[in-house]
Amino acid sequence: MALVNEHFLKLPGSYLFSDIAKKVNTFKVTHPGTNLIRLGIGDVTRPLAPACIEAMHRAVDEMSHAETFHGYGPEQGYDFLIEAILKNDFTPRGIALSPSEIFINDGAKSDTGYIGEILRWDNSMGVTDPIYPVYIDSNVMCGRAGDLGPDGKWSDVTYLPCTAENNFIPQLPDRRVDLIYLCYPNNPTGTTLTKSELKKWVYYALANDTVILFDAAYEAYIREDNVPHSIYEIKGAKRCAIEFRSFSKTAGFTGVRCGYTVVPKELTAATLDSDERVPLNRLWNRRQCTKFNGTSYITQRGAEAIYTPEGKAQVKATIDYYMENARIMREGLSAAGFKVYGGVNAPYIWMKTPDGIDSWRFFDQLLYEVNVVGTPGVEFGPSGEGYLRLTAFGQRKDCEAAMARIEKWA
Ligand SMILES: *Cc1c(COP(=O)(O)O)cnc(C)c1O
Repeated sequence: MALVNEHFLKLPGSYLFSDIAKKVNTFKVTHPGTNLIRLGIGDVTRPLAPACIEAMHRAVDEMSHAETFHGYGPEQGYDFLIEAILKNDFTPRGIALSPSEIFINDGAKSDTGYIGEILRWDNSMGVTDPIYPVYIDSNVMCGRAGDLGPDGKWSDVTYLPCTAENNFIPQLPDRRVDLIYLCYPNNPTGTTLTKSELKKWVYYALANDTVILFDAAYEAYIREDNVPHSIYEIKGAKRCAIEFRSFSKTAGFTGVRCGYTVVPKELTAATLDSDERVPLNRLWNRRQCTKFNGTSYITQRGAEAIYTPEGKAQVKATIDYYMENARIMREGLSAAGFKVYGGVNAPYIWMKTPDGIDSWRFFDQLLYEVNVVGTPGVEFGPSGEGYLRLTAFGQRKDCEAAMARIEKWA
């Protein structure tokens, strides 16, 4: 008799965006011809940088000749891309990493979801709340999160609320946790931690033998000087943190699929029955070599081109476009009397619902009264109740039209 992994059955039935899709479809059927503006899902809309397109075309041509054909590549990624990453993302920030500490992947969702495999299932874990749902759901699947309570919280997860009341700066947990997920700049709130605030987390982790899983998918959107781009800007972080990066939001790779994970050699974790400390780099390498056969050569050539002078300029122009959207939205919503957060170092606007109404009710109001689609904050965790997320990844004209509608409505 084959038995299912029953932890999967604890997960609420549908994926967040399918609930939203159902509501939007109902609206469309009952209001045919209405011009809906979608500022909900966190996918980009601008095309890939020409430098990436050209590099991928060249790579495709190489694949068509026996002399330049590429089959299986290294599971950890090609040296040409790893070298470009080290030289551009870390060396200029004074961070020394070796090539074997970088693992190229098919995007940050995969590795943030898989990383728990190299850590015992009964480690305790903490997350900031609200949060990218992958961190919790992937832990539910292996039994690490416990059971879902009526308050929307998993019994074995320590939640660290981030709300307007604490300026979206999480408190250190009052009981120790083995693993902590941090995402900065943050999805969904669009807020950041300064270097001195992030330092507290590194010191906490070092003092408590905690592993920080640091998701820096939005690093390229940082505008302010005192916000760290990498957790390794903080001394000691190589002994306590794994960092996830993605080319999805940086360079429009949501459909191409490429990112990377940094697992420093100095990072070790304990074993239950001996004094031995095991380097997590060794385990992650073993895991990747067994379960992952590399990101495609064509994709990695495309990613390498992000780091050429033309690539950098093109990618920057696209990010500037989204961040101008963010500015328009922030200012438009503020002018209309809403309280808004984020949007300065991240492409997300986190707005407080007016008059204390709940997230879903405000979602419905925006949908039916101004025909704008957002994402209810509560879907990112209990502390997201009373907020709504809008993304700056849309077309300029849609952002402007949405703001005009909302200002008129308010
Ligand atoms: C979009 C996003 C990612 C990136 O996912 P990919 O799999 O690289 O496309 C990772 N973390 C967060 C928080 C995100 O919002």
